[in-house]
Parts: sequence; C-alpha cells; structure tokens
Amino acid sequence: MSTFNAPKGTFDMLPPYSETYNRIRIQFGLELRDAGFQYIETPTFEDTGLFARGVGESTDIVSKEMYTFSDRAGRSLTLRPEGTAAVVRSVLQHKLYAARLPVKLWYFGSYYRYEQPQAGRTRQFTQVGAEAIGSRDPLVDVEMIALAVEGFQKLGLTDFRLLLNSLGCRECRPVYRSRLQEFLRSLDLDEDTLRRVDINPLRVLDDKRPEVQAQLTGAPLITDSLCEACAAHHTFVRSMLDDLGIKYEDDPRLVRGLDYYVRTIFEFVHDGLGAQSAIGGGGRYDGLAQELGGPELPSVGWALGVGRTMLALEAEGREIEMGADCDVYGVALGEEARREVFKLVTALRVADIPADMAFDSKKLKGAMKAADQSGARYAIILGDRDLADGVVQLKDLTTGDQAPVSLHLVVDSLKEKLQ
Ligand code: AMP
Repeated sequence: MSTFNAPKGTFDMLPPYSETYNRIRIQFGLELRDAGFQYIETPTFEDTGLFARGVGESTDIVSKEMYTFSDRAGRSLTLRPEGTAAVVRSVLQHKLYAARLPVKLWYFGSYYRYEQPQAGRTRQFTQVGAEAIGSRDPLVDVEMIALAVEGFQKLGLTDFRLLLNSLGCRECRPVYRSRLQEFLRSLDLDEDTLRRVDINPLRVLDDKRPEVQAQLTGAPLITDSLCEACAAHHTFVRSMLDDLGIKYEDDPRLVRGLDYYVRTIFEFVHDGLGAQSAIGGGGRYDGLAQELGGPELPSVGWALGVGRTMLALEAEGREIEMGADCDVYGVALGEEARREVFKLVTALRVADIPADMAFDSKKLKGAMKAADQSGARYAIILGDRDLADGVVQLKDLTTGDQAPVSLHLVVDSLKEKLQ
C-alpha cells in the first residue's frame, strides 16, 4: 500500500479495462484513417488566452473549470479542457490549410476540467476527436456524424441516440438570442440565472432544474428563427442522414457548452448511463479560425468521451476487455533450460507469435498454473532431460496432449499450428 492515492477526480486505467481503452483508440484510428483523417497531437497545455478566446469567456469551462497556472517565467498556461481550439491553433500556426481542403485530422488524448466528480464525470478524461477544417459543405457535417455512428456501432454499441439541432449563424442567431432573452426575462428566475440570461441565454435552455424546465415550455425555438441559408443547410443535413438510414432526434433545445458552434450541432447520448449520459458531441464552428486570427475556415468536428463509451459498453454488457495476448507460454526447469526457453520465446515473438514465459525459477506446478492463467493455447516445457535430447515438450493446453518436438523445429511447428 502506498501513502498516496490518485488525486480527486482522476483514476488509474487498470487492466483488463485498459485493453478496451486501447481497442477504442485503435479502432477509431483505423476507421478515421480510412476516411482520410490524419493523426495530430498538440501539447497538453496551451496559452490560457487560446481557450479564453477559442472556447469563450462566458462558458462554464473557461469561467469555472480550467486548470490554469503560471510557469516559472510568469506565463499563464492552462491544461487543455477540450481539443478543437488547439487543433485549429496548430492548423493556423503551421498553415496546414494551404494544402487540400478540408484538412481532416483526428486525435486522442487527456483533457482536464475542474468539475464535481461523479459517475462518468472526472477531472481528467480521455477524448477521441476528429475535425474537418476548411469546408462549408453540409455533406461534411453528415460525414462526421456518420463516422461517429460507425465507430460506436463497430464497438458493439446499440443503445445510443443522436440528438440534432442547428444553432444558426452570425446573421440569425443574434435575432433569436434577443427573442429568447425577452422571453426568459419574463420568467420567475433567480439572480444567477438572470445573469446567465444576459451573458449566455441559450445555456438556460439546458438548465436541468425542474422549476426552470417547467417555465420553458413556451420558449421560442432556434429552428423557427433560422435564416434561409441556415435552414437550407439544416434541411440538407437531415435529409442526407435519412438517406444513410441514420436515425436522429430533432432537439431544438440542444445547446453545447462551448461558444464556437454555429449551424449543425449534435450530441450522442446513451440511456444506460444516468445523469452523465452524453458519450460524445460536436458541430460546426465556422468562425473559430478567424477568431484565433486566421483566415476564414468553416469547419466541423466532434469529440467522444472514451471513459463514458467504456461505461456504455459495460451498461450494454458488451465489455470487449481481453487478457494480454499470449499464444505460447514457456516453462523452464533448470538454469540452462531458462536460457533456451527465453531464446525460444524471443524467436516466437520475432515470428509474430505472442509469447511469454515463467520467470523467477518457478517450480513446475506454479509455472503450469501461470501458463493456464496466461490464456495461451500451447506451453513449451523444457527440463534437463529434454535439453540433453535436444527436444522441448509441446503441450496443447486445451486438450492436455503433450509431445516432444525438436528444439530447432518448435518455432516452425508452432507457426503452423497457430495459423
Ligand atoms: P464536450 O467537449 O464537452 O463536448 O465533451 C465531449 C464528450 O467528452 C462528452 O460527450 C463526454 O462524453 C466527454 N466528457 C466531457 N467532459 C467530461 C468529464 N468531465 N468526464 C468524463 N467525460 C467527459
């Protein structure tokens, strides 16, 4: 036992669950690569100003949840609370937009928000994200949504729902915002909420308190206020999703916790998760690149919560955890045999056969137990007598059959058996 525990709101990613975690990363990586996305990794911390500007001063993330610190030279730095702002910063810094558009990038990493920890909500969490930067085409919105759906489905998830909305644009959102403010100011709301009505009225729609929700029944809806171009964009996205057979629910009250979104926004929720039901979300952010000092680069992206995806898999009884991969387990009896078995295990690995062995001079019984626990299909057992005869005992751990095989031939023989 150690004197220290992981800090509040953080956790250790332990086996066997860590296997699922790796699988999610690998699976999304392959799928996104096949769709033309390249991997990007940005620093874990950035200038605080990037998030203040990129995510928005009025958001909970920036105003309450950031891990901000000064470095020894007095710079204000912040542990990244989300991925998009940094990816766009990087695209601008390295002028990646000078090549073919859209720039399609994917990432996987840890994010940090000082939130009240609860089931499915931690202070450090992992997201897999994808961004398509530099296209106004509503087909790209649909492509992004389809890729997230495909990813969840390939992991085996079925009980998730896609919520869809449009937030309008610089033209029509301000008109809607004032209409909504007017409506909200006529309600019986506490001071904190009224302040929010001034700063970020759309967030009030997201207020989970029943006394607030009860008053919101007649609230004006953004989808009734969209300008012609935004309405056409939204109609296109919906009809293309229909064409692909992707089910969605129109949710005209859906908002997101980041300021940069325009037009299409979406969220994936899983009903087996309780209060923290969002397993991912995203949308279009046409103005962000300009906000960060770059050219106009209309873009769309998403981020999926890896931890919550794992909880969703568990809720559906679809744990994809596996033990460590091992096909052959080496058991050596005696000092010279240890050297030979180690050489065989190394040769098996070179031949792409997952192999492991019993270390620390275990007795036969203990070593055979370890072989069983490893999940291997075969054990190679080497004693002094075998060594003298130039053979190794090859044991099938499923049937219990055992036969001597020449030391020189065992790797080839296992290659054949495991084909
Ligand atoms: P957001 O950047 O807020 O849109 O988050 C995207 C996804 O990341 C959410 O749908 C969650 O699945 C996940 N996520 C966000 N915040 C947390 C958190 N504090 N703990 C665990 N997962 C989170």
